[in-house]
Amino acid sequence: MSDSVSGADRAAEGFRAVFGAGPEGVWAAPGRVNLIGEHTDYNDGFVMPLALPHTCLAAARARTDGVLRLHSGDASGGVVELRVDGLAPVAEAGAGGDRGGWAAYPAGVVWALREAGLLSGAAAGGADLHYTSTVPTGAGLSSSAALEVVTATALNELYGLGLEPLRIAQLCQRAENDFVGVPCGIMDQTASACCADGHALFLDTRELALRQVPFDLAAEGLRLLVVDTRVKHELGDGAYANRRAACEAGARALGVPALRDVAYERLEDALATLAGDETLVRRVRHVVTENRRVEEVIERLDAGATRSIGPILTAGHASCRDDFEISCAELDLVVETADAAGALGARMTGGGFGGSAIVLVEEADAESVGKAVTEAFAAAGYRAPRIFPAVPSAGARRLA
Ligand code: ADP
Ligand code: MG
Repeated sequence: MSDSVSGADRAAEGFRAVFGAGPEGVWAAPGRVNLIGEHTDYNDGFVMPLALPHTCLAAARARTDGVLRLHSGDASGGVVELRVDGLAPVAEAGAGGDRGGWAAYPAGVVWALREAGLLSGAAAGGADLHYTSTVPTGAGLSSSAALEVVTATALNELYGLGLEPLRIAQLCQRAENDFVGVPCGIMDQTASACCADGHALFLDTRELALRQVPFDLAAEGLRLLVVDTRVKHELGDGAYANRRAACEAGARALGVPALRDVAYERLEDALATLAGDETLVRRVRHVVTENRRVEEVIERLDAGATRSIGPILTAGHASCRDDFEISCAELDLVVETADAAGALGARMTGGGFGGSAIVLVEEADAESVGKAVTEAFAAAGYRAPRIFPAVPSAGARRLA
């Protein structure tokens, strides 16, 4: 994978080609898959992502003139040049429907640092940044969080800000929420900033408490496949806002600050209170049972019973599909086919309406299950999916 030294060389090379001189350093931040805990992060709930070996690299150099120059080898349009003191959220700047283009993500990070009062003295001076990424974009694997987190991690070191990874995640979420205008929760940025090699990350999104849970698939003869369906259905953005609103309405109706506060043991009572609004019943049931599934997965992993999480993953998919209604035909086909082909469990991962699914398999079955999914897609007339193993990898770090 390209987050190796050669990847760092390539990023430095790209920087030199664009900006004329070498960078001060090269940093990496990964994409992620979520093992379990979907649409729970904006309900103060539990999530359990792991970082992928796929990373966004940033080669960077500090400037002293207050200018920010951004370049991505993965985007067209050349260098984007901005003034740090002129940065304003995309909506306010009236940049229109494209949310300011790709550069809004890193620009938003600099804006969030500035708004937090972290940019003064040398840190007010701007920077040159060149990006190159192996995280597929728009596949539900959080290429946007990787882009944000690598930016914040590079600037943290270049400016000597001394920010902890969790603080970096919060600033990056602020950038995506308030600068780019995407109302995401804290999971993606935390995964990219805080994950550890060979572990899944348990995150309590209310307490912002983290725990690295050992998840060494190779040692147990297991594999977690990512199946990128390569579709992204349009209704995704509107549906996300709609689901958030439903969760807030559910919490209000139940008289709790967030659905996190509905104990699994009290779910039936809560649903009885909501009876009459079947949609709300389903939305609330998903969030409450999904939080419980995260706890169950941790219990199994702590007990060394990794294989036994399979059915919990599949139950999580059914909940996303039937109660939260965020799946789609392609994701359902992955899960059904993998299940029939002998996988231990499978579910959609990420926001839904396309993007990726994960499939837990015995190593010996990885190839045949992947083949079954590819054939099922061909038979259904879908585009061929992209399938690769999710090796639990490290969070953001300096490479060179
Ligand atoms: P996801 O985060 O699931 O991949 P998003 O729609 O949230 O999908 O973010 C994708 C967007 O992030 C891209 O459209 C682009 O604007 C930006 N992006 C991600 N990686 C890069 C990159 N390497 N170079 C330029 N822009 C990128
Ligand atoms: Mg994203």
